[in-house]
Amino acid sequence: MTKEVWFGCVVTFLFGISIGSFMNVVIWRLPRNGSLVEPQWSYCPSCHHRLMGGDLIPLLSYLLCGRKCRYCKKPISSRYFWVELLTGVLFVVLYLRFQPDMVNVAALTLFGALLVPIYCIDLELFEIPNQLNLLIFIIAVGRDVYGIATHQPGHALAWNWMPQSILGALAGIAIFGSVRLIGWLWKRVEAMGLGDVLLARAMGAMLVSVVPVGANPLRLIPIWVMLSIGSGAIVGPALIFARQRKQNKEGADRPVAVGVNETIETVDDSDSSSLGRELRDILYVIWLEDAVEYVRYVLSRPATVTPGADTEVEDAWQPAASAIPFGPFMVVGFVAALLVGEHLTAMYLAYAWPRAAVPGYLY
Ligand SMILES: [Zn+2]
Repeated sequence: MTKEVWFGCVVTFLFGISIGSFMNVVIWRLPRNGSLVEPQWSYCPSCHHRLMGGDLIPLLSYLLCGRKCRYCKKPISSRYFWVELLTGVLFVVLYLRFQPDMVNVAALTLFGALLVPIYCIDLELFEIPNQLNLLIFIIAVGRDVYGIATHQPGHALAWNWMPQSILGALAGIAIFGSVRLIGWLWKRVEAMGLGDVLLARAMGAMLVSVVPVGANPLRLIPIWVMLSIGSGAIVGPALIFARQRKQNKEGADRPVAVGVNETIETVDDSDSSSLGRELRDILYVIWLEDAVEYVRYVLSRPATVTPGADTEVEDAWQPAASAIPFGPFMVVGFVAALLVGEHLTAMYLAYAWPRAAVPGYLY
């Protein structure tokens, strides 16, 4: 590696851990319906003491203060440390992978940074905030439109009118939307949340900007889907096992609610659920349902949140012990597809379909 690349790594790492520090705020505040900007300072989640400059140095503060809050001495979740470190490493890895193309580095690090709270929130609460899904979708399409506007190779309008990223988004929606539909038709269960379909929309759109020049814009979609499902199949059972053990430990003295141990959250079979409604939900996703929601959210801003108000989080709802969120696996599959997807695809095509390995054959 040249000196410039080493320097770039250090800069992206420092930038990454600072962004990771902010992502910790997003992970804590966004699902609790708190404002991201108010209060303007960071505070300790247990004693609500305002944190000063020295408490906010990414990675170091956590280690130097003995993993405790400096004011109330309560232990601080190690998640804060790991989120910062992970974001820093993710930034460096993406920088090294896409490095001469700084537009892609910028778009993908931004995109990747927002995948961190999506991963953590979905894992913990089984939901993906619509604002995050909308934001990454805008980043993905924005990067493609920028490429088209500046005539970058590899960015073009499909059929002379549609940015290719929209094509990728439609592919993502179609694939993960059908999983949802099939799950409903087959077992009347919610196999996949709408949040996952929205996440697929943004990821499908982003992958278009990563394919090698001259190749089919949807080239990386199959490997992304396979890596997502594959990581789910490998890690999913372990996750279910860990969750069941945790709930057994916690819930030994608590009466188990009916249905808690059912495989997946069963959709109400009454008139609230029908094939028409399922189709409508998926179509709604294509028409930017979250954009509408977001405007509604901005118009009806919640009253100022004071520190302390967020301690009364509804923790009554507990996911079924054997349910797993799919968003985290999509994140893992997507990052893996960014890093090694092209390599795997080229290997597979050279082996199985030599003619298609020639760039430009499909498109
Ligand atoms: Zn404290």
